[in-house]
Amino acid sequence: MRYIKLWVLLLPLLLLGGCGEKQHQKQVYAMDTVMNLTVWGDGSALNDLQQLLQKAETQLSVTKPASLVSRLNAGETITPEGEIYALLEDAAALGEATGGSLDICLYPVTRLWGFTTGQYHVPGEGELEEALSRTGNQRLILENGTARLEAGAQMDLGAVAKGWAGAQCIRLLEKNSGVSCAMLSLGGNIQTYGTKADGNPWRIGVQNPKGSGLAGVLELEGTWAVVTSGGYERYFEENGRIYTHIIDPATGYPAENDLASVTIVSKNGLQADGLSTALYVMGLEKAAEFWRETGDFEAVFITKDGKLHVTAGLEERLKEPAGEVSVLEQ
Ligand code: AMP
Ligand code: MG
Repeated sequence: MRYIKLWVLLLPLLLLGGCGEKQHQKQVYAMDTVMNLTVWGDGSALNDLQQLLQKAETQLSVTKPASLVSRLNAGETITPEGEIYALLEDAAALGEATGGSLDICLYPVTRLWGFTTGQYHVPGEGELEEALSRTGNQRLILENGTARLEAGAQMDLGAVAKGWAGAQCIRLLEKNSGVSCAMLSLGGNIQTYGTKADGNPWRIGVQNPKGSGLAGVLELEGTWAVVTSGGYERYFEENGRIYTHIIDPATGYPAENDLASVTIVSKNGLQADGLSTALYVMGLEKAAEFWRETGDFEAVFITKDGKLHVTAGLEERLKEPAGEVSVLEQ
């Protein structure tokens, strides 16, 4: 069995020329990934950001026995602090809005495949069917400030946790942190904050899913979450077949369709992260339809034939495309 992992899906480009103040950088390992934090202004904010990210890992990790998620998975009823309660509510609602393409209670299945533990394994039909019968966003029960899971259900917030943590970082920076602008790269989830003093937009490179180099560069002004999901990000190979880490909750098997990657641009980090996963599961046609119906985010879809399909709001912001571009209209 061969296991391959590529971390970087989105690259912050040209970090020089920030907000006219001193630039400070820190590398942090949290939430199972390398994070690069860059702020302009008061560098002490980096320590606060690190603490926030490490706390998010402690609370949300599915592999740490003491995490809130593990306690829920062990059948406990918990009374989480308000921010976590809101995360659970929002993540379950987003899952429902995607018709279950995002399923925060997919852990019985993702665990079988071993993507969260590293014990990779192609499950048998029987065990997969049994695990699938215990999935579904509606199995999380939120009542009067408490959270619990239906018997047998298990949660994995891996599809939304980094996006949510990025949004929490922005809230921290907005609270008088002395930071005028920032670029946070949370293992490929990018979160920008504020406006650069030189008037130039942030430049974010979208990785070419088929090998090296960039598929394009997004130029964005102000505060945005930019998140990419792609099968090439984490996968293993068994008997000559490739199994990717994004699972179609309808079948329990890795999502396999015309898409090679999905990049979401949104003001809302949780939404950007959750939808990058969900729309990858849907395939281009359903994903484009979802965008037309929902409308409060933008996306770049890269299909396996190397074409870029960009939603209308990003047409002017996507630069240096490495393939043919078609624009999705409302
Ligand atoms: P992301 O990298 O944000 O696309 O999230 C992928 C991770 O979320 C995987 O490594 C699994 O832990 C989990 N996951 C995989 N498929 C799904 C799905 N359809 N819905 C929710 N979580 C998923
Ligand atoms: Mg995601």
